[in-house]
Amino acid sequence: KVTGNITAFDVDRLVEHFPLCMRHLHRKLRDDKHLKHYGRMQYNLFLKGIGLPLEEALIFWRKSFSKFSDEQFQKNYAYNVRHNYGMEGKRVNYTPYKYVYPESKPAVKIHFAHFETNGSCSKIINNNQPGPEEHHGCPFRHFSEESLRVTLASVGVRNDAYIREIINLVRNKHYQVACTRYYEITRGGERGMMDTIEHPNHFFEQSYKLSI
Ligand code: SF4
Repeated sequence: KVTGNITAFDVDRLVEHFPLCMRHLHRKLRDDKHLKHYGRMQYNLFLKGIGLPLEEALIFWRKSFSKFSDEQFQKNYAYNVRHNYGMEGKRVNYTPYKYVYPESKPAVKIHFAHFETNGSCSKIINNNQPGPEEHHGCPFRHFSEESLRVTLASVGVRNDAYIREIINLVRNKHYQVACTRYYEITRGGERGMMDTIEHPNHFFEQSYKLSI
């Protein structure tokens, strides 16, 4: 569990609450020590939304890109991290955002995320289709059926009936409903326990709240 202000070093402990798109990006980042442009942008906006401050995001990305020198990182990557936080370019997008992770369920409703419109599910599903060696996008939309089956089994969906249900939703292009069923199946199983996922930070917020 994470308490207090989130830091670069807390991200690994929060991955269990991430939707499949962000779990996939996180795993590829750890494997390759690099992500291509759209992957960095998709993941960075999500991390911003879970309350990672800019200075911690810069530490997170610097440490994750461990195969690069400081100079390469500053020259090629730091600008984009700051840009996603609205601190470069037109600076129209800057929303100061702070979230302190509570030790136990707070009495008032908690809102973790600043939901970036740019990072919504519909944008991820419909824009910038991933090419070879790119890991951004939505697994329900962009993985092959076989890869999705293997991924679902690896994150705890081992019941064949559940996998078939999710695959059928995907075949009918109901990607966000499939993601919502994945959430429900892995966190209680009740169909309709939550509204259709519209944003990866929405998934995270609901999952984290269940754990405190
Ligand atoms: Fe991510 Fe949205 Fe796809 Fe779920 S539906 S995996 S949250 S992009």
